[in-house]
Amino acid sequence: MSGISGSDAGGSNRAREERSIATCGGECVPPADAFAVVASETRLHILEALWRSDDDAVRFSDLHGEVDLRDSAQFNYHLDKLTDQFVAKTDEGYALRHAGESVVRSVLAGTFTESPDLNPIDVGHDCVDCGSGLRATYADERLAIECPDCGASHGRYSFPPGGLNDRTDAEVLDAFDQRVRHLHCLAADGVCPECNGRMATRIAEGASGDHGTDLGLSVRVVHECAQCRHRLDSPVGLSLLDTAAVVAFYEERGTDLTATPYWTLPWCVCDEYVSVVDRDPYRVRVRIPGDEETLFVTLDESLDIVATERR
Ligand SMILES: [Zn+2]
Ligand SMILES: [Zn+2]
Repeated sequence: MSGISGSDAGGSNRAREERSIATCGGECVPPADAFAVVASETRLHILEALWRSDDDAVRFSDLHGEVDLRDSAQFNYHLDKLTDQFVAKTDEGYALRHAGESVVRSVLAGTFTESPDLNPIDVGHDCVDCGSGLRATYADERLAIECPDCGASHGRYSFPPGGLNDRTDAEVLDAFDQRVRHLHCLAADGVCPECNGRMATRIAEGASGDHGTDLGLSVRVVHECAQCRHRLDSPVGLSLLDTAAVVAFYEERGTDLTATPYWTLPWCVCDEYVSVVDRDPYRVRVRIPGDEETLFVTLDESLDIVATERR
């Protein structure tokens, strides 16, 4: 069978850490120092107190009153450690900076999402390869849609645990579909969805599997961040979901492509719809079947569309 799938994977943590320290250039606090600053309960309480406040700034005495620490010299010491990077000191008092907000947000996210458990979901759609019912599973903060019968993957992408809260199974699937589209839009526009760094896009051929998951795709798109090494591998078709010619092709057939889960579109999952038609210059073509007409979209190496044709 032709390979089916798509996935994302970060670079190794070590490489990521080395890189971010190396690019700090003395202007920002290295990650290890930043973690040391917030690895204190008192400091986290201070950040949380500022986060809960409705006012733009909180006076020293009010803030001290919110945090359960009698010793005012100790309180002062911890507040001082946070000031500048996580907390801003103004004439009106103390206020959270963006870095402080991020800390509070990730702590809160951890408390209501610790080791989230999601029972496998019946997706309600069929495998594009064998026709069995698809199943969604959740592990390692990634959601995967796969066929329990033939094993064909229909994509496995990061989905932060907060996304599972307060949603029905159908809503989780809908949010996942939207997220996958969003990740690919950003990546194709050259922006890393993890760190906002510069992302390069290329088309790769041959089996992958160099980061633990064998995608089994013979032709695939690889987006890779030059800064944090985050990597997103996917079928070529996924990058065509908001292409005007493709949207119109579906509209004429009474289907709203934006409301159609990507895993129900075989050309978004399965690489038998993709072929390399030229190597100089490099051209790949995606075949999108309609009932009596087929749309062919030809792309260059950087995923720019060079031709569309109906037959
Ligand atoms: Zn199957
Ligand atoms: Zn990045």
